[in-house]
Amino acid sequence: MYKTIRCGELRAGDVGREVTLAGWVDRWRDHGGVIFLDVRDRWGVVQATANPAIAPAAHETAAKLRNEFVVQIRGVVRKRPAGMENPNLATGEVEVEGREVTILNAALTPPFNINEDLPVDENVRLKYRYLDLRRERMQRNLVLRHKITKFMRDYLDARGFIEVETPILFKTTPEGARDYLVPSRVHPGCFYALPQSPQQLKQLLMVAGVERYFQIARCFRDEDQRGDRQPEFTQLDLEMSFVHRDDVLDLIEGLFTELIPAVAPAKQILKTPFPRLTWHEAMNRYGIDKPDLRFGMELCDAGAVFAKSEFKVFQDVLKGGGVIKCIIAPGCAAYSRKEVDDLTAFAQEQGGKGLATVAYTGEGVKGNVSKFVSADEAAALRKLSGAKDGDLVLLVADKLATANTVLGALRNLFRDRLNLADKEVLSLVWVLDFPMFHWNEEEKRWEAEHHAFTMPKEADLPKMDSDPAAVLSDAYDLVINGIELGSGSIRIHSSDVQHKVFQRIGLSEAEIKGRFGHLLEAFEYGAPPHGGMAPGIDRLAMVLADEPNIREVIAFPKNQQALDVMADAPSPADPRQLKELHIRLADDAK
Ligand code: ASP
Repeated sequence: MYKTIRCGELRAGDVGREVTLAGWVDRWRDHGGVIFLDVRDRWGVVQATANPAIAPAAHETAAKLRNEFVVQIRGVVRKRPAGMENPNLATGEVEVEGREVTILNAALTPPFNINEDLPVDENVRLKYRYLDLRRERMQRNLVLRHKITKFMRDYLDARGFIEVETPILFKTTPEGARDYLVPSRVHPGCFYALPQSPQQLKQLLMVAGVERYFQIARCFRDEDQRGDRQPEFTQLDLEMSFVHRDDVLDLIEGLFTELIPAVAPAKQILKTPFPRLTWHEAMNRYGIDKPDLRFGMELCDAGAVFAKSEFKVFQDVLKGGGVIKCIIAPGCAAYSRKEVDDLTAFAQEQGGKGLATVAYTGEGVKGNVSKFVSADEAAALRKLSGAKDGDLVLLVADKLATANTVLGALRNLFRDRLNLADKEVLSLVWVLDFPMFHWNEEEKRWEAEHHAFTMPKEADLPKMDSDPAAVLSDAYDLVINGIELGSGSIRIHSSDVQHKVFQRIGLSEAEIKGRFGHLLEAFEYGAPPHGGMAPGIDRLAMVLADEPNIREVIAFPKNQQALDVMADAPSPADPRQLKELHIRLADDAK
């Protein structure tokens, strides 16, 4: 070994020991003769000295060092002189008096400082990711991620689960995104699809009698990039046989209830057992299927207050079967016209037509619809919503779904603007009983809300043809601070029901057989009832590490244009390779 001790682990108890350190030069300074070096390895930083009066050769070499040089130092651990201790450093009571300094490798001046956490352009960080990862914050994130997956493995192993690897080169396993395709050289014109999740494979493992499966699994989805999306990402993929919904929920809830304090002790889980809301409740109360319960601001239905409204817009919406719903923006009664206009523009971006406001100023009712609001209505609205003096009530009159979406988004906007949610608190909540299908207006067809392998509620099976919108499913989501942490469901295990669902989402017989024939066939050979889930590991690590996006917790992520700017991927292929793959490029791709 190049080292006998880790830099970050030296303590006062080591004084007098002869040690050899190896690591990177974190800082370097010449204090009139004696050279002071901070040497860093993965475990931390320790100060070393090179004194010409004690070890002239070591001093001579140390004079050649620069930041990020790789260095080995043999020396003796000394207590730092009184007054020179550094209480901010775990090794701050000691230093290593260097006897021998060896340069293991030189380093160019890095494009950004490794020894401090200053803002750096993200593409520069990603281009030099190996340097970015050398920084303390990123090292911390890598370690946290390791702890998370290790905890998961141990927890599941102790409960009879086994980890099984499933193929990356497979066939379409749809989760609602585009597939990544890989051309086959040996089968011209044929393609593998990268799995959007191991969904079908884990279900086949249940048919195979595995009963309790998990995998720290990579998923590939070709979709537009956002803060919490990447072309490839990692899930804790899990499946169990002979279980009902609550068996899966209890297992996952137990896992997170134990995992969070173990890996992120500063975080507090808001409530255990985790609250359970049906999808309908979540939509009605929070306007969103991933509610953040760290703060109130629930939506209320103000339809009854305005049943006899003189305001034409309200009348028309109510007559047309729409709703008038509202939330309170606490302390925002004095918002300017411009501030309200900005909120209205935001509401319109969410698909709303506009935003009505009623402000309880303490000196009467103001707001952009106040002239249409009678004193009785204002009093009734106040009673219903619980608005106090100084509050601004935001009203949306629209179709139920639109009103919910707009107010749900406004609620989250105010969370951030007014700092309503404590970041050390984790709101974990289950959302249950999702609709089985939603209507894709563009393609004019029903689509599976979760995925096509989800079991519709038994009682709703007869409605599959007559009223698909009313069919609920045995799907569930776990939500953390308003972010979808993972989805799962009880699965279909009968060939007939599976076939019916494929038909319902518009697949032809040929497509069903071509894409999913193997699964339908497998279900004919004794498929047990089963269900599972797949919590996202990137998202969990992001929340626990207080990072703003998942790129910060992935070692080598793509940037927001889905590019790897370090290795330059994707990049054009060699014409010879394309020929072998039987691929000719279209003009616009050349
Ligand atoms: N395949 C997952 C499941 O277990 C869901 C997902 O990947 O989002 O249902």
